[in-house]
Amino acid sequence: MLEIKNLHVSVGGREILKGLTLSVKAGEVAAIMGPNGTGKSTLSYVIAGREGYDVTEGEVKLNGENILGLEPSERVAKGVFLAFQYPVEIPGVATMTFLKAALNACRRARGEAELQTPEFIKRVNEAAAALGVPQDMLKRPVNSGFSGGEKKRMEILQMALLQPKLAILDETDSGLDIDALRVVSEGVNALRAPDRSFVVITHYQRLLDYIKPDTVHVMAKGCIQRTGGPELALELEERGYQEYVAEEAV
Ligand code: ADP
Ligand code: MG
Ligand code: MG
Repeated sequence: MLEIKNLHVSVGGREILKGLTLSVKAGEVAAIMGPNGTGKSTLSYVIAGREGYDVTEGEVKLNGENILGLEPSERVAKGVFLAFQYPVEIPGVATMTFLKAALNACRRARGEAELQTPEFIKRVNEAAAALGVPQDMLKRPVNSGFSGGEKKRMEILQMALLQPKLAILDETDSGLDIDALRVVSEGVNALRAPDRSFVVITHYQRLLDYIKPDTVHVMAKGCIQRTGGPELALELEERGYQEYVAEEAV
């Protein structure tokens, strides 16, 4: 599904990713854990194609195709989904309107017909019911006055509607409350599928009490330092990142 080889990325002339290699199989939930400032968010932005990140070496392949030359919208069309780390408030735009625009933009990019309003509403209602998103949230402007947990719910709802092949969930370092953790993990668990992969990025171990990853990767100093199974997350919780960082702050 996702094959990253020897990825070097600079931001503002400073190298952040330093030869990162990672592969995630179809159907797999891969967790990436690592200390603050090590380039975890940078990695997710580079996969999604955000501007300002200079790839100086290496490749990122999705189902065998190098996606680094593609526009962000083309990557969305190929099935890449990046949940916003800090979801924006869009005053005056109803959540339903926003979701419909996002979904239809994605469908156009995939060469699929746009959904008309009745079919769209049917799908949103089904997904909202499955994820426990209350109707009144859908009527409010995008994210306005939403709690952290509600914003996460919207993100997961968006993911459910877009049906991505590769979903990247980058958790805030400030930490989510238990309610939000549960929302994210239930959403991921409900959307797990043999042809869909998840990359779950987290600084803390506790999200992985809820999402059971197939693989755990330790990222430090701009590289994947170690790969293991779920037991690796428990080891990290006990021992921290010290042994991986040395001169870097934890
Ligand atoms: P993590 O998500 O692991 O905490 P980040 O990818 O956010 O790490 O950041 C990695 C490093 O890159 C940090 O030192 C950060 O200050 C730097 N960095 C990230 N984005 C930018 C940017 N837009 N401009 C300058 N430096 C950045
Ligand atoms: Mg950070
Ligand atoms: Mg980050």
